[in-house]
Formats: sequence, structure tokens, C-alpha cells
Amino acid sequence: MAQYDNAGKQDVQVERLLEWLRDAHAMEAQAESMLTKQAGRIEHYPDLKARIEQHITETQNQARLIEGCLQRYDASYSGIKDLGGKMVAFGQAMGGMLVNDEVVKGVQAGYVFEHLEIASYKILIAAAEAVGDMQTRDICERILQEEIAMATWLDDYMGRLTQEYLARSAAPDVEAKR
Ligand code: MG
Ligand code: FE
Repeated sequence: MAQYDNAGKQDVQVERLLEWLRDAHAMEAQAESMLTKQAGRIEHYPDLKARIEQHITETQNQARLIEGCLQRYDASYSGIKDLGGKMVAFGQAMGGMLVNDEVVKGVQAGYVFEHLEIASYKILIAAAEAVGDMQTRDICERILQEEIAMATWLDDYMGRLTQEYLARSAAPDVEAKR
């Protein structure tokens, strides 16, 4: 970075940071609605349901923290207008719900989504550092740890879930899908 003369370019960089923060805010809103829908449908996988419910609380707090970062630049910022459209493609990928293996598909999609979040916060951390916004950097660093913890939990759980799902599927008069 030192090889560039950045004098007068800060505005461009801050603008980009703010855009990425708005994207992150929309991503968290998407995460909240996705996780809420998921948790609401799970009946026979209590560990998964409990972990998702914990992450819903974390996700709501993350959205507030990101909103706070944006409001330090623009006190009138409101996240409401960022919520449309951004994550439509991912929402479509989640359309696999309501199929016979929805709990397995849900964990698969959740794992992908957490990694999208991990990548987003790593990018935000680097960008915040580049413009000298250490408060935003620290907040994103904290959020990143929650996303990594959720991804790691899903990673550990996935195999167990698959086998439990298969065992339930093979048992007579036992529901497996949710
Ligand atoms: Mg999140
Ligand atoms: Fe997350």
C-alpha cells in the first residue's frame, strides 16, 4: 500500500468501506430471517435448534453493531433501505427447504452462509484498517469470531446430523426431515 500516493483518495476508500458495511448489514438481516425460518421448522434436532437460536441472538446484535459503525459516519443512517434485493440469489439457493431432507439441506446452506459472512468480515477488517477506522475494525473482528464459532459448530455437527437423519428416515413412523 505504501507504494501508492493516497493523498486525497481517502474519500473513495471510505465510500467503499461504507458500501461494504451496508452489504454486511443486509447480509445480517438475511441471516436473521433465514435462521428464524429454519429454527421455527426444526422439531427433532434439539441441539441444532438451540445453536441456531443462539446465533439468531448473535446475528441481531451484529446487525446493530454494523448499524452503529455506519451511524458514526452518518448519524441519520437507517439500515431499512438496504434490506431489499441484495441477497436474493442466496435466498434462491435456500429454496431447497421443504424437501424431504430439509434439515440436512438447511445445515449445508447454513455452513455456506457462515463462510460468506467470514469472508465479508475479513474484507471489512482489512478495509477498516486501510482507512484507519480502528473501531470498525475491532467490531468486525469480534463479529468474525462469532461467525467462525458458528461455522465450526456446523462443521462438527454435520456428520452426526446426517447419520441421525438417515437413522430416522429408515425407522417406521418417525419423521426425519425436520
Ligand atoms: Mg452474522
Ligand atoms: Fe453468522
